[in-house]
Amino acid sequence: MAKICLCLTGKTLAQDLEILEMYRKYVDLAELRVDCLDSDERFLIRRFPGMAGIPVILTIRRGMDGGRFFGGEGTRITHLAKGLAYADADRRNNFAYVDLEEDLDVPSLEEAARAFGTRIIRSRHNIEGVDDDIPGKLRALRRVGDELVKMVVMPRSLDDVIKVYKAAKETSDIDKILLCTGEYGVNSRILTEKLGSRISYTSPKDFDQIPSAPWQMDPRELAELYRFHKISAETEVFAVSGYPLTDTGSLGFLNTVFRTDQKDAVCIPVLTDSVASLTQFADEAGISGIVITAPYKEDVLPFLSYKSGEVSSIRACNMVVADRHGWMGYNTDAAGFSGSLLSFIGRKDLRHRKLTIIGSGGTARAVAAEVYRLKGKALILNRTQTRARSLAEPYKFVWGALDSRGAELMESYSDIIIQATPVGMYPDTDADPIGFYKFSGREMVMDLIYKPEKTRCLKRAEEAGCRILNGNDMLQSQARSQYALCMKKEFPPPLVSEG
Ligand code: NAP
Repeated sequence: MAKICLCLTGKTLAQDLEILEMYRKYVDLAELRVDCLDSDERFLIRRFPGMAGIPVILTIRRGMDGGRFFGGEGTRITHLAKGLAYADADRRNNFAYVDLEEDLDVPSLEEAARAFGTRIIRSRHNIEGVDDDIPGKLRALRRVGDELVKMVVMPRSLDDVIKVYKAAKETSDIDKILLCTGEYGVNSRILTEKLGSRISYTSPKDFDQIPSAPWQMDPRELAELYRFHKISAETEVFAVSGYPLTDTGSLGFLNTVFRTDQKDAVCIPVLTDSVASLTQFADEAGISGIVITAPYKEDVLPFLSYKSGEVSSIRACNMVVADRHGWMGYNTDAAGFSGSLLSFIGRKDLRHRKLTIIGSGGTARAVAAEVYRLKGKALILNRTQTRARSLAEPYKFVWGALDSRGAELMESYSDIIIQATPVGMYPDTDADPIGFYKFSGREMVMDLIYKPEKTRCLKRAEEAGCRILNGNDMLQSQARSQYALCMKKEFPPPLVSEG
């Protein structure tokens, strides 16, 4: 079964032990990154496995492999030898593994490791990209039968990640660690068991230490949110996908519900550079359903074998579910939005209400369709006027740009203002797409963003006396529908709180 490894990159062994204590319950082993230790501390590493009380990997990573050791190779070999020396009869006091790079050829180190039961990890790091012929290179890495081979690559696209997943299948007979680093590789750190890989390396997010590799996951998040230790070949996989992947509220929601509802399922983030690559990745990784986020809610339409009534009329899709004929497309934004807004304003429809919709992207399409269905009248303002126009015209809505003329038009469409762009979303929380508009205090203002809870736009509206609503209620409501589509059954209210 795949294991979670905590990478220890403190400057002292005491710091490393402190971090280990905080995360011990989530991890199966630790990697002592000797290259991150102060030079004096490097002389004391031999004692560490006994102090840690958990299997420990001895690693001294060179700068060229993404580590922080910039000294000579002789010094590095001396430190490795010190770590393996004076082996204890009680193996728990020895390093469980030593990481030796493929080009390191020091037989005495290997003999010392083998004599005292320290397993050799034979590693290859490509921090620039993804190698061709990963299976061939993995097979060539192993020198002696009991070595655990390790290959780390840096995908630059989702197509690169697909290559790694294919390579994992072709090397299912090999005992290996195979992982993708970088932003595209996060999913491989969760689906480690499915890739037939032995270890997922983690770094605590809320601890001030040197990150051991970009985009490593937090051990608690991996163990608790993604239930890493429960993932098996049978686990059903869902995904949240987009670029950049900032709109990930459904990820937390779905994984929390899967856990509470005791479903053998996990939802993973998939950073995606095209819908074509996403569908290939989904086939390769065996993904059953995908929450589609910006900017692909319209781009996904040509890939659907079935479109729900909402998808056909709105021309945007935010949820796809695999079926034997292909991908079935749904829109959960529409009902999530209108349910949240109507309960906020305490009405059944939007008759006699004049609204302004800010934005014309995938979610604004669902908003406009619902406003029309509920008999409201709207003004659509967008940065790119042509998009506002093409969204507004079928509904006979008014349209304009985000400028002073737009502000004038808003005066007549100010019963309810719906902010449906990502402007103001974390981390860019100072931004406000309608900074030019002065609230009278009579408007009701809904911002679909849920992180932060109050965007700059909502704060301004509240200060002016407006009633305000953020996107959290909409998120909860539409994520419930996503759960129902994933599990092909209703959301289970008695089991799950909305947190
Ligand atoms: P999208 O398809 O990428 O839409 C982007 C829209 O925002 C476009 O109208 C775009 O204008 C506009 N925009 C982007 N950057 C801008 C900038 N710097 N200044 C002015 N306008 C800008 O995204 P989406 O899927 O519609 O999502 C929009 C927002 O809704 C996101 O913040 C998302 O978190 C939120 N959302 C919330 C929920 C929920 O459940 N609460 C559900 C879905 C979405 P152009 O046309 O000019 O490019």
